[in-house]
Amino acid sequence: MKAIRIEKNGGPEVLQIQDVEAPVPGAEEVVVKMAATTLNHMDIWVRKGIPGMGDLPLTLGCDGAGTVLALGDAVQGFSIGDRVVIFSLTSCGECSFCKQGLDNQCPRFQIFGEHRDGTHCEQFLVHQKQLIKLPDHVSFEDAAASSLAYLTAHHMLLAKGVLQKGERVLVMAGTSGVGSAAIQIAKCFGAEVFATAGSEDKMQFCKDLGADEVVNHYSPDWYREIKSKTQGEGVDLIVEHVGQAVWEACLKSLAWSGRLVTCGATSGPKVSTDLRHVFIKQQKIIGSTMGVKKEAEAIVDMLAAQKIKPAIAKVFPFRNVVEAHKFLESSEHLGKVVLAW
Ligand code: ZN
Repeated sequence: MKAIRIEKNGGPEVLQIQDVEAPVPGAEEVVVKMAATTLNHMDIWVRKGIPGMGDLPLTLGCDGAGTVLALGDAVQGFSIGDRVVIFSLTSCGECSFCKQGLDNQCPRFQIFGEHRDGTHCEQFLVHQKQLIKLPDHVSFEDAAASSLAYLTAHHMLLAKGVLQKGERVLVMAGTSGVGSAAIQIAKCFGAEVFATAGSEDKMQFCKDLGADEVVNHYSPDWYREIKSKTQGEGVDLIVEHVGQAVWEACLKSLAWSGRLVTCGATSGPKVSTDLRHVFIKQQKIIGSTMGVKKEAEAIVDMLAAQKIKPAIAKVFPFRNVVEAHKFLESSEHLGKVVLAW
């Protein structure tokens, strides 16, 4: 079977489509015939090389969906031919966090395609606990495209941000994967959604996803627009992953008792914070990474109920993976880049 692998770090030219041995499932394992996977920025970082990544050669790919091709004797609840989506995060299953279902707080958590072989292959071998059944009317592309970003956004908004109906949510960089997911999920839970974007096209994209108000984050005083659109009060909850370039303006947009949840720092990790504002206004700054399996199951339910719909920029056949990486790196697309098998 074919797999997209790297033997060394570098540009898109290091990507290889290799023939590897077809997997045989152990007792509790399942072989999934992949139908759709997506490209995440993680794939580019791993391809270039990041600290803590798994040994090379490595198969890329964090997410995906497909059908059960083979299964071990002890697998329960799945049959050959079942449609499934992969839960991207593995955990030890033994520590105190795992026992509470807090997969993403497990000190030994791993992500497919980063720490261990990933999903960009024809047949993916996985433990049964990493699978979620997919209803017939949810497409493989939508399931794959919603798994990582929607999981991250769901965890930020609900588990960490404790979003309440009617609250004002600000989503930074609303056209990004996490941003576009956060706009849709916040709307589903009854929030008034503000978003930022960097061009007229991108602002319209955020509105099409459901944002009530969108401001241009290249405008130097964009936070003043947020303040004026909220009667000077600011927003209750911010979904942040941009970091340095927007940090101080984000905090200026945040209401008294507001929560800022951060899961990334794409513009830089070193920020400056005036602590006087944080303690006087009694604000919370909260870190977040990925999410837990229950949330991934909730996302499948939301997809099935057509409450959310991931934006897909382009679907590439897996043979064109080099072109797909270049397309993702160009950063001019809106929505997910899908690899179809
Ligand atoms: Zn654990």
